[in-house]
Amino acid sequence: MISARTVVAGVVGQPIAHSLSPILHNAWLAAAGIDGVYVAFAPRAESFAAFVEGQRGGGAIRGVNVTVPFKEQALAAADEASARARLAGAANLLVFETDGRIRADNTDGVGLLGAFEAQVEGFDPAAGPVVVLGAGGAARGAAAALLLAGTPQVRVLNRTVSKAQALASDLGPKVVAGALADAAEAFAGAIAVINATAAGMSPGQGLDVPLGATPESAVVMDMFYKPLVTPFLAQAQALGRRTVDGLEMLVRQAEPSFEALFGAPPPAGVDVRALALKVLNG
Ligand code: NAP
Repeated sequence: MISARTVVAGVVGQPIAHSLSPILHNAWLAAAGIDGVYVAFAPRAESFAAFVEGQRGGGAIRGVNVTVPFKEQALAAADEASARARLAGAANLLVFETDGRIRADNTDGVGLLGAFEAQVEGFDPAAGPVVVLGAGGAARGAAAALLLAGTPQVRVLNRTVSKAQALASDLGPKVVAGALADAAEAFAGAIAVINATAAGMSPGQGLDVPLGATPESAVVMDMFYKPLVTPFLAQAQALGRRTVDGLEMLVRQAEPSFEALFGAPPPAGVDVRALALKVLNG
């Protein structure tokens, strides 16, 4: 029942109609018996800053998750930000405090590492170099999370090399930059390869990298999850590599977001991954 006391939160992006986040959060709200609702917002790109400013004080909306293309703007709009959001240069969570402050955080890194933990037993991000493909917001967040988790070297490869170089110079000497064409050399000795490019979003634009050059023990992860087993993950599985999917990352980043928005951790026993998969599979 929606009442005058119902807490409103949501996700902001453009486009947003494809988002699975409302499915996850509303299932948790119902199971926990919390008087809240989680909806999707798609302000015009030029209106994002005004949208955020209008939420000061939390009188209308308690907080929002933020997705493409607003994560960098979200960080800039906040009055204070967690260390992990500042390091990532992006925020996926804004909380509108009652005293008027806007607080930014980034739970994508928790989601990424949580997905590895859930799907690869004993994975230790500090055990060796990790290759990140892409140099956009998701790659930046991944590199920041890996550094905070003790990864000794993050090798960022991007189609546009200058963007990888900019990321490396922002994050320090443990991040090295290269071109996607250098993937075979970069894969040597890597404990994991993470696809953080948007290549899968455009039909027929898959990533062409020689996954066969990864060590047999390497774990291959794809942040993109439509379909759940992307051509990139299918190639890795055919080579016998262990894999991690992007849906698990989505679920794991949603957990701390839910707690920040609704004041309680997600209730146990709700299989939100299965719910999301049902929607994904139409
Ligand atoms: P972004 O900031 O727009 O960055 C896009 C990146 O993809 C850039 O590095 C770009 O390279 C590269 N790219 C795009 N098309 C390419 C192609 N055809 N071949 C090679 N590289 C290509 O996007 P983002 O926010 O980082 O998101 C990246 C992906 O991660 C998206 O698919 C998004 O859905 C996914 N994601 C998933 C989760 C999750 O929870 N599972 C969370 C965050 C993001 P250039 O610089 O050369 O253009």
